[in-house]
Amino acid sequence: MQNNLEEVAPGKWRRYSGEGLNAAFNDFLQIGPADSRLLQTYHDALLQGGERFSKIFYAYLQGYPATAKVLDYYKAHGGKIEHLVAKQTQHLDQLLAGDTSEESAQRMAFIGEVHYRYRIEPVWIMGAYLLYLEHLQGLIRSSPAIRDNDRDPLDKAVVKLLFRDMGLMLEGYWDAAAKALHQEQDKVVTLQEQVTSLLANIPQLLWSVDTINNHPLYVSPSAREICQMDIDMPIPCLGWTIPEDRETVKLAWRKALMGHKVEVESRVQQPDGRLRWFRRIFYPLLDKTGRVVRIDGLMEDTTEAKAMIERLHALATTDSLSGLPNRTLFNDRLTQAIAAATRSDSRQVVLMLMDLNHFKEINDTLGHPAGDQMLVMVAQRLASALRDSDTLARLGGDEFGILLPDVTDAHRTVAKVAKKLLQCFVAPFRIGDNDLYLGAAIGVVVYPEHGEDVDTLMSRADIAMYGTKNKDVGYLFYDATLDPNAQARLQLAADLRQALARNELELHYQPKIDLQSGGIEGAEALIRWRHPQHGLIQPMDFLPIAERSGLITPITDWVIDTAVRQCMRWSEHGHRVRVAVNVPGRVFHDPGLVHRIAQMLKVADAPAECLEIEIIENVLMSDIEHVSRILDRISALGVHIAIDDFGTGYSSLAYLKKLPLKTLKIDKSFVMDMAHDENDAAIVRSTIDLAHNLGYRVIAEGIENAATHHMLAELGCDAAQGFHFSHPIPSEDFSRLLALA
Ligand code: C2E
Ligand code: MG
Ligand code: MG
Repeated sequence: MQNNLEEVAPGKWRRYSGEGLNAAFNDFLQIGPADSRLLQTYHDALLQGGERFSKIFYAYLQGYPATAKVLDYYKAHGGKIEHLVAKQTQHLDQLLAGDTSEESAQRMAFIGEVHYRYRIEPVWIMGAYLLYLEHLQGLIRSSPAIRDNDRDPLDKAVVKLLFRDMGLMLEGYWDAAAKALHQEQDKVVTLQEQVTSLLANIPQLLWSVDTINNHPLYVSPSAREICQMDIDMPIPCLGWTIPEDRETVKLAWRKALMGHKVEVESRVQQPDGRLRWFRRIFYPLLDKTGRVVRIDGLMEDTTEAKAMIERLHALATTDSLSGLPNRTLFNDRLTQAIAAATRSDSRQVVLMLMDLNHFKEINDTLGHPAGDQMLVMVAQRLASALRDSDTLARLGGDEFGILLPDVTDAHRTVAKVAKKLLQCFVAPFRIGDNDLYLGAAIGVVVYPEHGEDVDTLMSRADIAMYGTKNKDVGYLFYDATLDPNAQARLQLAADLRQALARNELELHYQPKIDLQSGGIEGAEALIRWRHPQHGLIQPMDFLPIAERSGLITPITDWVIDTAVRQCMRWSEHGHRVRVAVNVPGRVFHDPGLVHRIAQMLKVADAPAECLEIEIIENVLMSDIEHVSRILDRISALGVHIAIDDFGTGYSSLAYLKKLPLKTLKIDKSFVMDMAHDENDAAIVRSTIDLAHNLGYRVIAEGIENAATHHMLAELGCDAAQGFHFSHPIPSEDFSRLLALA
């Protein structure tokens, strides 16, 4: 294609052009001064009836469907045939003037170009010239104004001039066509360059095979980078695919030959001996009869993606602290074990739930790192007490699950296994310099005796475990009489799982009063659960359940998001109210927390100052290193941080100095009675002084009366919150409060 194009391209061809062209025409057609003179002599005679001829000429063009179409188009776009007739007459006039100048040659060439643009075909042009010729020859033969001797030479001169005219016009036509062709060619070349560069840049190997002749039509330029070896055909790199995988690839190819799109993964040996995973995709192309004539293919290295999927799978099913299976995997295995046991009459499945006794105290007194260390040690001891075919999982917190998938005498087996498990807690756990003793409670259920599905078995094992704790024994089988309340508690946990989706949670807002101005400086968002049966539930009655069941993170996210949006709504009404939310310690161990806070602010288009995080003092102290790192990042966003319930923990103020805190919030247990209790009043006073010395703002919570209010104002406390000003109230009521202020 390209070669042909080049052949016709102007410049490649030795052609006359410009002046040379005109001279060549005059030369080849042997047009001399005599011809011009003759034409000038008979110019008027030959113009006789010129206009009539032009009209006939157009009538004639109207007679051909193809030319009529062009004229109709011309008329439809506002053109007038009379105008064309006049032009035509003028043309005849010029033609008969015998003008063979350069200028006239260029004019003709231009007319040719215009004809090309209007898609007037060469054959019509020639037909028109024939009409001219016939018309003029008729005149030459019959006009009395022409001398007989001149008729022959005049005829010849007219023929030559007409040839010249027509030739030059076709030259112009030809030139314009070649130019257009050349432009098209340029476009094709540019496109081709783009496609080539695109294909070279794509990290996949693309190829195309003619399946009729079995030969390659295309292999993309990046082939070498993908497959650093010979690309054998028709299936690239088949020879390097390891023998075990070759059959699958060939089978896929055969399927493609039958017209199916196929994807296949296999291992390919690299020249350096390494194995890498490759995916090949075959796309068959069928002709009209349904025969596969071509297969286009793609080949890509999926080693990294595969490894990533495996890592993700491992992450999704493993507890990162202990390395044990997590709840998800445990549930899967339990489901499988139940399915397997269902197929046989005699098989039973044993499920045990184990909870450590008083583990929380270790966390609170020695800190999270010590707690974590303890959990890892427990996991190791338990694992060594079990068989490989059993599953030991960490289900969350200090709760472990044990699955014995294939048992024939459950009660005897459990007696043995539970004893071994409890034995793990006889020796002390050494953490730092301490020897710590820990106990465990195990609840046991047996499929099919105590339930036939995962949910029932899990919840009954939970009830059995609580029974064990209450009765202070090592382990217990489930028994309906164990704890009638357990069922209600579990039900509440199940309801809570739905509460977010069903929109049952709400935030109430309690104002924080600036003690200097008396105005509202902020609000604390406090969560409530509007339960469809039990009515409004207070946070202390469901947040512990949320913590136990892993719902605390989504709930906290919801609280932050809702609070930030509420702050924006108030700000739109001209009220600057910073909203404080309570973030529990557990959530600080969620690696995505900071990112999500930033994201929520961004989505709500809210400034970070809208938000304050309240964190309970105990949480801080149990894991200061970790929590302070997270707090630094949150503070860097511009979010304020306050320490809540201050005074209830044992934090030294020197410690606190390292944290990016803005505010200390004195716990209500000191504030509520301070008007009557001197001790409390003294604590509050010294806390305010110390905090101010360290540069913190101080807010007191639990102000229930005017006396306390005045005392705090006198002590120089910065802000206050309590029933004396307002209870926590729904957002609409709070808005009304703001409007009044
Ligand atoms: P907190 O963060 O110390 O919140 C202050 C609690 O004191 C609130 O109880 C509030 O209603 C109560 N309070 C305020 N003024 C007075 C007063 O003058 N006298 C008395 N006696 N109490 C007053 P609430 O709403 O029941 O919340 C209790 C705790 O639950 C909160 O203590 C906080 O630790 C937690 N909490 C509340 N909402 C959330 C939440 O959205 N997320 C999390 N993680 N915890 C929350
Ligand atoms: Mg609070
Ligand atoms: Mg508090």
